[in-house]
Amino acid sequence: MGLTFVNGSSSVGLNATVTSKSLRCISKSTNGFVYHGYSTVSKSRLNSSFDSKLNATMSSDLMKSHYPYVVVGGGVAAGYAAKEFVAQGVEKDSVLIVSKEAVAPYERPALSKAFLFADPPARLPGFHTSVGGGGERQAPEWYVEKGIHLLLDTEVSAVDVASKSITTGGGSKISADNLILATGASPVQLTMLPGSDLEGIYTLREYADGLELYDALKANEGKTVAVIGGGYIGMEVGAAAALMGVKVKMIFPEEHMMPRLFTAGIASKYEDVYRKKGIE
Ligand SMILES: Cc1cc2nc3c(=O)[nH]c(=O)nc-3n(C[C@H](O)[C@H](O)[C@H](O)COP(=O)(O)OP(=O)(O)OC[C@H]3O[C@@H](n4cnc5c(N)ncnc54)[C@H](O)[C@@H]3O)c2cc1C
Repeated sequence: MGLTFVNGSSSVGLNATVTSKSLRCISKSTNGFVYHGYSTVSKSRLNSSFDSKLNATMSSDLMKSHYPYVVVGGGVAAGYAAKEFVAQGVEKDSVLIVSKEAVAPYERPALSKAFLFADPPARLPGFHTSVGGGGERQAPEWYVEKGIHLLLDTEVSAVDVASKSITTGGGSKISADNLILATGASPVQLTMLPGSDLEGIYTLREYADGLELYDALKANEGKTVAVIGGGYIGMEVGAAAALMGVKVKMIFPEEHMMPRLFTAGIASKYEDVYRKKGIE
């Protein structure tokens, strides 16, 4: 038997175990590997949207304390790095990906597109890496098959570059010959403004954010939503919200939409289209 995955536990880190919140367990043997999937109360919204084995994390007994390669972050770069490791013929069990997200790497751009407005909306495993770039779809079982270890739902709280080691939120240490930092970016939270902690404010970066935003838009049909930011993501979310029957007001400090890419002339064409669709 190869790797065993345990998912969705509210505890994090290498000592992650299934907690009393775990509701059920599934087992499936694929190429000699066994998954154990659990849905938890704490992540019920996330887990209810797809097969529970998709957010598998590795059980403590199979973790190693040292890897030739550790990737911190489990987003687009990590997914394509995994693909490249395999293409380069890196030995099995020599790569570990540690991700704060509870799902295996996926094509993040989908979150502001078919994830919101398609009918039915795109959901994992439909857009795992590397649907966008071509090649095999890297669903969780792909990582098992290729011998790439995924430690999900686990935040790295410290990176010691000198000793080439990381510490997880659970306090476990893992060392590596090579560290790849692929932690991406986070949305600006506007915490400098009063009211930024009120309910009903959403940002969009991760899969779980997307699920929350989708639910909120669905629940607010006919009501008004303010989309703050007039870049790609603001434009896409504004369009998706309008398609979902929400009244949209877009707010941005610049003269026109997409100021970093569009000239005023190009932007005005888009702004006309948006206005015709009822977006202010
Ligand atoms: C809604 C949306 C739509 C987009 N659309 C497009 C598009 O159409 N075209 C385009 O070219 N680009 C688009 N982008 C940008 C594109 O997704 C990013 O450029 C890309 O995701 C960057 O990849 P990355 O791996 O560097 O970071 P990310 O994909 O953000 O991955 C970072 C990962 O690291 C994890 N992480 C962060 N900190 C820690 C930590 N301390 N410990 C463990 N894990 C951690 C995060 O949870 C995340 O999983 C879009 C982005 C968003 C959010």
